[in-house]
Amino acid sequence: MTSPAAAIIDGENVSGSGGPIVVVDPSTEETIAEFAEAETALVDRAVASARATFERGDWRAASVEQRQAVLRRCADAIDAHADEIADIECANTGIPYAQIRNGQIVRAAGNFRFFADYIGQATAELYEQEPNYLTYVRREPVGVAALIAPWNSPLALGSMKVASAIAFGNSCVLKPAEQDPLGLTRLVEVIQGAGLPPGVVNLVNGGGATTGDALVRHAGIDCVSFTGGTRTGKIIMTAAGAALKPAVMELGGKSANIIFDDADFEAALDGALIGIFSNNGQQCLAGSRVLVQRGIYDRFIEAFVDRAKKVRVGDPRDPATEIGPLATRRHYDHVMGFVPAPGDKSARILAGGGRAHGFDRGFYFQPTIVEVDSNAQRLCQEEIFGPFATVMPFDSDEDAYAAANDSRFGLVGYAWSRDIARIMAAQERISAGTIWCNTPMIRDLRAPFGGYRESGVGAEGGRAAEAFYTRQKAVSIPR
Ligand code: NAD
Repeated sequence: MTSPAAAIIDGENVSGSGGPIVVVDPSTEETIAEFAEAETALVDRAVASARATFERGDWRAASVEQRQAVLRRCADAIDAHADEIADIECANTGIPYAQIRNGQIVRAAGNFRFFADYIGQATAELYEQEPNYLTYVRREPVGVAALIAPWNSPLALGSMKVASAIAFGNSCVLKPAEQDPLGLTRLVEVIQGAGLPPGVVNLVNGGGATTGDALVRHAGIDCVSFTGGTRTGKIIMTAAGAALKPAVMELGGKSANIIFDDADFEAALDGALIGIFSNNGQQCLAGSRVLVQRGIYDRFIEAFVDRAKKVRVGDPRDPATEIGPLATRRHYDHVMGFVPAPGDKSARILAGGGRAHGFDRGFYFQPTIVEVDSNAQRLCQEEIFGPFATVMPFDSDEDAYAAANDSRFGLVGYAWSRDIARIMAAQERISAGTIWCNTPMIRDLRAPFGGYRESGVGAEGGRAAEAFYTRQKAVSIPR
């Protein structure tokens, strides 16, 4: 059994003396790591390390070329340890190995390369004031960033925060989720050897209400980047607001997938399956409410259900597996709590609806499709966060938009149609931060990724990251 460091401070692994953290393999329910979480004093040390590095200036004031070189070496280090990190992550998260090895780790290394390129293309604002002044705008790093990562995609999302924070010269303290800290902790260990000055990237492990709370409320933190649930986001945003610290919130989703009757049927079908069943269904950007136009509804649902029943649930280490176990016992119980009772006339189970067959251990849940009568139902309003889609027919395009936007969330939206005018209307009418037209889940790191309404505040990626992780300073001089 491995035990991760409770903290990485100044490039060194440090033990904690806080409460116990027990890490479980969701496919076997066996404990695979145990450690004492980072207590408040350790959080203090991590923040002090980040602050000292920032003030010293060996990263903040390093040239763009130096920072680019180190960011690229971080990416190379992740590539070089990709198999090892993938093994750890697969055991800890239950996400199928191929999706980690060919997806999340590639993304993690890509995040560092993207921001290395990005900072090399910085432009500046300059204003000439007649007759004799110049004013220009400097962008300076904010300082020490608290980065709080979720459990559903630790490597891709945690690395995004680290890469974007440090690219602009900040120091940071990262807190992985307590359920699955192993892969991200190993990733942070691995990049320490890539030429980062000690203290640029620190890490603390522990619970949200303990270690996480101590971190976000710490007086030495200058900004907070959070990805996780909406309820937690409100707590963290309130704490950050009380101290007037900028905060970016990437929160929950309950996104609509609108399939018009003139869609490319097979592409929309594949898209609907990927939209709800990849990453074990534990995705903020899932297309969890599938809305299908009446004319093709029966045919589409028959095909969707047929394909869902063939999705292979199994050991995440098995290359044939498409869906592994849910992340934790608690989350399994949460998802199970949405399964309609037999005989529920307003929510009819078309596929799945319970524990996956053939497993006496592990948090395995069947790919599930439930047909609902109304978007007002709890199944359509709350985030289930599992391989669990609702389906509902619609008649007019207006009906589709009304259902899509009838949500406190607004993270993403999907629309499928061969008619370009319809697609152009859909991308305007769906009220969400990202719209995927005739495609599932394209992420261009130059574009902002953020949610409307209770799906978030602010965004990550490209210029949005630059705006968040830098402060602007206007400088005027005579010319
Ligand atoms: P969560 O809110 O319970 O936990 C997320 C992180 O916050 C963990 O590291 C946790 O330890 C920490 N945390 C919890 N309470 C805290 C506190 N009081 N102070 C500081 N830190 C605290 O998240 P979850 O519900 O376990 O994660 C899944 C959620 O994340 C889903 O709602 C999902 O949609 C969302 N998510 C959003 C995005 C996005 O980009 N919008 C991406 C992935 C996941």
